[in-house]
Amino acid sequence: ALIPLALLVSAALVGLIVWLTRRLLTPRRALAAAIRRREFHVLYQPIMEIATGLCVGAEALLRWRRDDGTDVPPDVFIPLAEEYHLIEPLTDMMIGCVVADLADMLRRDHDVHVAINISAADMQSGRFLPVLTEALAAAGVAPRQVWLEATERGFIDAALARQTLERARAQGHLVAIDDFGTGYSSLSQLATLPLDGLKIDKSFVDAIGRDAATSVVVPHVIEIGHGLNLLIIAEGVETLAQEAYLRAAGVGFAQGWLYAKALTASEFLAFQETTNGQ
Ligand code: C2E
Ligand code: CA
Ligand code: CA
Ligand code: CA
Repeated sequence: ALIPLALLVSAALVGLIVWLTRRLLTPRRALAAAIRRREFHVLYQPIMEIATGLCVGAEALLRWRRDDGTDVPPDVFIPLAEEYHLIEPLTDMMIGCVVADLADMLRRDHDVHVAINISAADMQSGRFLPVLTEALAAAGVAPRQVWLEATERGFIDAALARQTLERARAQGHLVAIDDFGTGYSSLSQLATLPLDGLKIDKSFVDAIGRDAATSVVVPHVIEIGHGLNLLIIAEGVETLAQEAYLRAAGVGFAQGWLYAKALTASEFLAFQETTNGQ
């Protein structure tokens, strides 16, 4: 009778250990712990003015490097953070990093703009805006130096988004619509929003001179941008042929591996100095 009891106890013990590890290692817990431990940093990908070749700014891209040295791509952890309602602390942390870097760039006389990605939930709630305003004021950085990029999903509830949009612009931020054309929003609704810029998604830039079906969309996206009087920024530019196409089409700004990958803040400053000849 002792043997089945021993078996039972050890089975229960194994069960307990399995249950505990699962609980401790759920993605949600891992992400929450990573935010507490600040396992994130921000990289900056240069944005170029096509006509002059000058580097005018950068997009801030969040990175998660885990304790064990492995990187989790943002395409994985941003959707997770949104799903687990952890996007707010993540956005706050990203804002803290970007504002600190901007203050540092200001001290070195670099007049740049940094575009930050605002997730759909942030855009709908507008909660990040006072956080940003306060951080900028404390660091003595002008709000016009921070651009906002929000995807079409951020404008799904147009009334809510409009509030955030108007408050952000009143603060002096420029707002661009990100991944334009990849969502399902109604164009007529987008057209009524007071936006400043439009980012052409990499998938459209990739198609230039290649994928016939997608490439017919590109001139229309550019035409919409011009028609709405928006600044146009093309992302994912990798070749001179793509750049030439965009220049001829009157696209103002470009970002991509043709110029630089995402860089650390100090690498970015060095890149800007070399490129702009300061
Ligand atoms: P996105 O906003 O569309 O960012 C552009 C992505 O394209 C970046 O990937 C960038 O590194 C990549 N890229 C730029 N140029 C090239 C190129 O020439 N070739 C190739 N192959 N790729 C290029 P990344 O950094 O992996 O970011 C992926 C997405 O994660 C972003 O897409 C954005 O939606 C999201 N994300 C990144 N940082 C943040 C953040 O701080 N907050 C929020 N809410 N989302 C973020
Ligand atoms: Ca973006
Ligand atoms: Ca995206
Ligand atoms: Ca994109």
